Amino acid sequence: MIPDKKQGSDIMNNYQYAWDKYNQEEMDRVFLFSEGYKDFISKCKTERECVKEFIAMAEKNGFRDLETVIAEGGSVKPGDRLYANNMGKTLALFVIGTQPLEKGMRILGAHIDSPRLDLKQNPLYEDTYLAMLETHYYGGVKKYQWVAIPLAIHGVVVKKDGNVIEVVIGEEDDDPVVGVSDLLIHLAADQMEKKLSKGIEGEDLNICIGSIPIKAGNDGEKERVKKNILRLLNQKYGITEEDFVSAELEVVPAGKARDYGLDRSMVMAYGHDDRVCAYTSFEALMRIKNPEKTCVALMVDKEEIGSVGATGMTSRFFENVLAEIINLMGNYNELILRRALANSRMLSCDVSAGFDPNYPSVMEKRNSAYLGKGLTFNKYTGSRGKSGSNDANAEYMACLRAIMDKHGVSWQTAELGKVDQGGGGTVAYILAEYGMEVIDCGVPLHNMHAPWEVASKADIYEAMRGYYAFLMEA
Ligand code: MN
Ligand code: MN
Repeated sequence: MIPDKKQGSDIMNNYQYAWDKYNQEEMDRVFLFSEGYKDFISKCKTERECVKEFIAMAEKNGFRDLETVIAEGGSVKPGDRLYANNMGKTLALFVIGTQPLEKGMRILGAHIDSPRLDLKQNPLYEDTYLAMLETHYYGGVKKYQWVAIPLAIHGVVVKKDGNVIEVVIGEEDDDPVVGVSDLLIHLAADQMEKKLSKGIEGEDLNICIGSIPIKAGNDGEKERVKKNILRLLNQKYGITEEDFVSAELEVVPAGKARDYGLDRSMVMAYGHDDRVCAYTSFEALMRIKNPEKTCVALMVDKEEIGSVGATGMTSRFFENVLAEIINLMGNYNELILRRALANSRMLSCDVSAGFDPNYPSVMEKRNSAYLGKGLTFNKYTGSRGKSGSNDANAEYMACLRAIMDKHGVSWQTAELGKVDQGGGGTVAYILAEYGMEVIDCGVPLHNMHAPWEVASKADIYEAMRGYYAFLMEA
């Protein structure tokens, strides 16, 4: 790590590029780090795929499954590396510290769900000689962005006997892709008069998946294109139409992450929100060895629909896992659990809006994040007078500011757009309910929630360094 002599003043910090401080060696590290991230984000396009990949990488780094430790009647001691998997969609990773847990943890929390189109329970139908799939969009999407682009299908189909069949269609070079059609401009006179929010309606986000009819046989002439698709699905995956009812199939942009910009300084990918913060959190935790305070990375599901459900941040999963760990350390009582949570410090690792010169009117320049200026702290989010915001304490921000400067991390502060322009939220407020210090901090993006989002490689690298510095020093 190269100390940045130009750091030290918040105002100065807002007037420099992270790029300025890199020598060639560091520049190579920035680019190399993004190659690992591009591989990850290209293949991990659902929460389940993220959890699976993180577990595989964590096991290579000496992490053990907490369930196994419990089943074997083992114990937990300082230096141990553990993970807990919640239904394959949420993951908690721990590096146990030398100090007692009740002194508090250092927690990085990111979400691994992203906006997309989910297939409905009864999705498949035939209309005018085409086989189609009904969808219900997930999270905040601008619907017009999802038409006329190549889409892939990722997810699982669970058979009645419990067998889980994993599906990925549309990612290999010779795979077919699917998509939602848009209206030709020639006939779009009425559509073009509509408000942008009404140009493409949610119920019209239907996916076209085929057009060849099965040969007409004894069972008549009806829905032969649909029947042919069912035949193909049965051949490849052994599934029938009824199996869609116990499936989670997510329709996402097809294709890999790409370098963006002639200087290759940025990454364009599906799902930066919030896998870019999940990946950098994970990488920061992997670099931690024998910490004083127990270090945690939380990868949660359902943030984009309000952090609800058993795999969302409002679930008791994390608290329960912590109780198990305290128990395995040999001295469980509820007071230790409560103190461990209340004495913790957390970074709610989530993306921020990067200033976009194409849309300057929604931002206030002095309090915006800029691509290439580093890890972005959002003291508060919310909307209409900070409503619903976590609004972190000044004392906590001061502590983090000192840590970031000590480690030469490029960082900036921002809020999400102009006052009363709109707003957003994260998981920050949920863990704050335990009485711990929490602040939002992450990578600024262009195109947030669009099928293809853009992040700066410098910011991705600085996020990892900032998260590491936090785990070591906060
Ligand atoms: Mn997010
Ligand atoms: Mn989001």
